[in-house]
Amino acid sequence: MSDQDFIILDEEGRKEEETGSGESDREKGKEEAAVSAHETDGEGEDGYEKICFICHRPESVTGRMIDLPNNITVCPDCMQRSFDAMSNGSIDLNRLMNMPGVQFLNMSDLENAQPHSQKVKKKKEKPKEFHQLDIREIPAPHKIKARLDEYVVGQEYAKKAMSVAVYNHYKRVATDTMDDIEIEKSNMLMIGPTGSGKTYLVKTLARLLDVPLAITDATSLTEAGYIGDDIESVVSKLLAAADNDVERAEQGIIFIDEIDKIAKKRNSNQRDVSGESVQQGMLRLLEGSEVEVPVGANSKNAMVPLTTVNTKNILFICGGAFPDLEDIIRERLQKKTSMGFNAELKDKYDNDKDLLSKVTVEDLRKFGMIPEFLGRLPIIFTLRGMDKDMLVKILKEPKNAILKQYQKLLALDEVKLEFDDGALEAIAEKAMKKDTGARALRAIIEEFMLDIMYEIPKDDSIGEVTITREYIEGTGGPVIRLRGQELPRLGQGI
Ligand code: ADP
Repeated sequence: MSDQDFIILDEEGRKEEETGSGESDREKGKEEAAVSAHETDGEGEDGYEKICFICHRPESVTGRMIDLPNNITVCPDCMQRSFDAMSNGSIDLNRLMNMPGVQFLNMSDLENAQPHSQKVKKKKEKPKEFHQLDIREIPAPHKIKARLDEYVVGQEYAKKAMSVAVYNHYKRVATDTMDDIEIEKSNMLMIGPTGSGKTYLVKTLARLLDVPLAITDATSLTEAGYIGDDIESVVSKLLAAADNDVERAEQGIIFIDEIDKIAKKRNSNQRDVSGESVQQGMLRLLEGSEVEVPVGANSKNAMVPLTTVNTKNILFICGGAFPDLEDIIRERLQKKTSMGFNAELKDKYDNDKDLLSKVTVEDLRKFGMIPEFLGRLPIIFTLRGMDKDMLVKILKEPKNAILKQYQKLLALDEVKLEFDDGALEAIAEKAMKKDTGARALRAIIEEFMLDIMYEIPKDDSIGEVTITREYIEGTGGPVIRLRGQELPRLGQGI
């Protein structure tokens, strides 16, 4: 070997070439350190990471792999299990050999193992859908709200309350605790009818802040030991949403929907395993505690490793429609106004559309939520039911509005899609009848857009389609304009 070329072999036997005898030892040392640091990350320079030969989990999940000859890597868990099995001697290998489906390692296969055959390509990072806010430099509430405004129509109060709560929450996370004054967690309770945008608000918020989000239905939760998911499974879901990154999960958001379904059952003598007990069980989580959760699985069992997640900085948002809550509020308000000088007409609140926003903690207690539970959800706000105007706005205004999506699809075929005002109103009227808020919109649109999306690409000469009220109501067709044609052919069906 000439004195110009040094060949350094690293741990895996790869060659690293360096030229020039003038290079100082210190620099060489630095490079070697860089190589080994890279490897401890579990990611080679080529963007691959090692996977366990036995359980096939990647190194980023299992922790550092143990390298065996022939480019075989095994995770510490599997290695330990193999040792345990061998030292117990409880496995009768002779019997196992004859069982169908049981295969043993064939050493000659290992000889042929390709260098990359035991590695998986790391997923490329998805391009971010939109510019996210940085929770380390917590944006002021008005900025959070401005971003929510781009996606969520109306619900001004809810957006405002949420922005302030989130701002305070992440400020609290960033500063940890402030001397003697510990800032309370800003867990929230959202009350609003179906399809008013509860889930949508939370999803948008989590995307904006780029924090992991887990959504669970309270109806699936039961006290530990009963059929159903135990309460801690919500943390497990969050950990999965954070790609098993505990630190990221600890700053995430957990949304528990249908929280009204775990209200205390009235007039029941039986043990309330899916109601009051779930509320009791959630107290610890809401406040902040260390929870042991399985990694990469939904339930705890001997085969999955456990990790500890602290829920202290996890933001909990509960949401529910709370049917009949309006009756409780009305009753309270009527009782108050029917006495004394200010006695008013008894039916004053009968047609009050905004009754829900007058809710108090006392009303929620009456509904069946236990005081300790409510005490851990200090931010309570309501969402309004959808009216026609809001539905029309939802159709066309948000950044990713349904109509914009269809327009974009057809624009790819160079066809312009328009909806006249009458059509939008007709869609909103149809949706109102279904009584499921904004949820009904997509189904209605999909129903009549099917024909359009099927027929238009057939005919290259079509340049513009306008959807009319008549088309939505089934009494006419859309207006079609051919390419290069000035006047529309009214009432032309397709
Ligand atoms: P909820 O959880 O209150 O029952 P969702 O959040 O699931 O209702 O709403 C259903 C769908 O309706 C959402 O996916 C969203 O597309 C749309 N939607 C509801 N409310 C709004 C709103 N205020 N602005 C924009 N879209 C909305």
